[in-house]
Amino acid sequence: LGASTRLYAEEDPLRILGSLSLRPTVTNSSSAWLVQFYSSWCGHCIQYSSTWKALAQDVQDWQQAMGVAVLDCAQEENFDVCKEYGIKFYPTFKVSHMTHSPDREIRSIRQLMVNVLQNHTRLDRPDHCPPLDPYSSGQLLPLLGQRSDHYTAIIVEDPDSYVGREVILDLLQFSGVEVKRALSSDRPLVDALHVTALPTVHLLHPNGTHTHLHVQKRLRFFFSSLLRTLPGVQRRSRSSSSSSFNAHTGALSDTHSPEPWRDMDRSRVYTADLESALHYVLRVELATHDALEGEELKIFKDFVTLVAKLYPGRASVVKLMETLSDWLLSLPLQRIPYQAVLDLVDNKMRIAGVFLGAELRWVGCQGSKPGLRGYPCALWTLFHVLTVQHEATPTALDNTGLEGAAPVLQVMRRYIRTFFGCEECGRHFDQAAAGHLEQVKSNEEQILWLWNQHNQVNYRLAGSLSDDPLFPKASWPSPSLCASCHEEKNGIHVWNQDQVLSFLRRHYGASNLSPQYAL
Ligand code: FAD
Repeated sequence: LGASTRLYAEEDPLRILGSLSLRPTVTNSSSAWLVQFYSSWCGHCIQYSSTWKALAQDVQDWQQAMGVAVLDCAQEENFDVCKEYGIKFYPTFKVSHMTHSPDREIRSIRQLMVNVLQNHTRLDRPDHCPPLDPYSSGQLLPLLGQRSDHYTAIIVEDPDSYVGREVILDLLQFSGVEVKRALSSDRPLVDALHVTALPTVHLLHPNGTHTHLHVQKRLRFFFSSLLRTLPGVQRRSRSSSSSSFNAHTGALSDTHSPEPWRDMDRSRVYTADLESALHYVLRVELATHDALEGEELKIFKDFVTLVAKLYPGRASVVKLMETLSDWLLSLPLQRIPYQAVLDLVDNKMRIAGVFLGAELRWVGCQGSKPGLRGYPCALWTLFHVLTVQHEATPTALDNTGLEGAAPVLQVMRRYIRTFFGCEECGRHFDQAAAGHLEQVKSNEEQILWLWNQHNQVNYRLAGSLSDDPLFPKASWPSPSLCASCHEEKNGIHVWNQDQVLSFLRRHYGASNLSPQYAL
């Protein structure tokens, strides 16, 4: 492994360059590049790497206009190229041939990126960089009342504000909405749109009507999130996605004809999804194993016990899981044929009050087309529910052998690694859990760890082939689900973790389970 992989990994939302890739990347590119030259032995570079990763995350969606990259000058193969680029001190970053010292906050580097792009726009603008200069009332007022095939968002702001340009770049990869900025000094526009607070977004709808966009907080993140979730606004897929889960389920789902759309509420959790996930685990995923023995059998037993003790859904399902758990624990066998598990699951269905539907019925997890969402979505949901339920009933796992720290995460980690059909997902999840799970000491931390880890996966997969355009992967919960979860510090989006925790307890709590559409 090269030294660069120690500070930056392939999963980070940036490009790791070397002597061979630097020049072709930055010269033959349709986008501009911000490259940090660092040295893996320099202490300051090591500390600085978390800032750089946070920056890359923050501007991940600007990639088509400007990408973020790193190059390790401590690697022998890179000595010459670093010399050629005149790198004398580490870290140094270069954007469009200009050299900058990196002792800056994320916000100021981001503003520098905007300035460079805006100047580029006038000279040799990167192919995909949208116009960043303000529009005038003369250009914008004629749009009012006109029909169109997309939304137009007009951000009115003070001249020194960067929000408009940042939101324009945040929406770069989305179709269905065009973002333009205008200045508060443009009186005819401000008067015509009745602007009273800044910055503000005025939204021109495709049908010709126009309104102010209501936001709880006038922050970049709120504006961008709301615009991304307008009806019909979609992320353009990245063609070069590295991995996608639907490659594994596609064959299965493509054989099914599309089902009628089920109306659903994104603020609810549906038992139909949770039960479909359990059905999939027991009758589909497990069926790929002829028999369970050794470590696999132990992991399966633990999974069933966990669900039997913590599942907050219908009593009939809890009863089935309890029966299965008791049966597995009472068997002296070291090896259980899968057929025996299936017989029990199916036969028990005939007994009154013990039941697990034998059908996949996705509601909160339905995808806009076959092969998207479904099982992996419902499995995440199930484990989030179990973390919340474990906190609500902390003694439920007493005397089950699952009393240690973070039991839900431990079982999830082993289940995903051993049984989950997407091997690569299992490997990623295992890597994330390795070395981190022992830091999870309380039930609250268990809830938050899973939430945070799920968001890391969302960031990595945004725009990939498994990203459903109707449910684009993004930081979750969105401002419309939980406004108080979001804050801004020094211009950077930050989570209010107390609010996130309260939200997760509510959202994944037993009282938020909807029985609608359950079999
Ligand atoms: P999902 O990401 O499945 O989310 C389901 C629901 O959970 C969302 O609709 C939302 O209501 C809620 N939610 C979203 N984010 C959060 C959060 N941070 N905290 C709490 N709730 C949230 N696919 C790959 O291509 N590569 C991978 O490496 C990969 N790893 C995976 C690892 C695990 C453990 C699992 C269970 C799945 C993995 N997948 C992976 C599948 C992928 O994460 C998605 O599940 C799948 O693409 C379906 O996405 P979705 O849009 O339905 O939303």
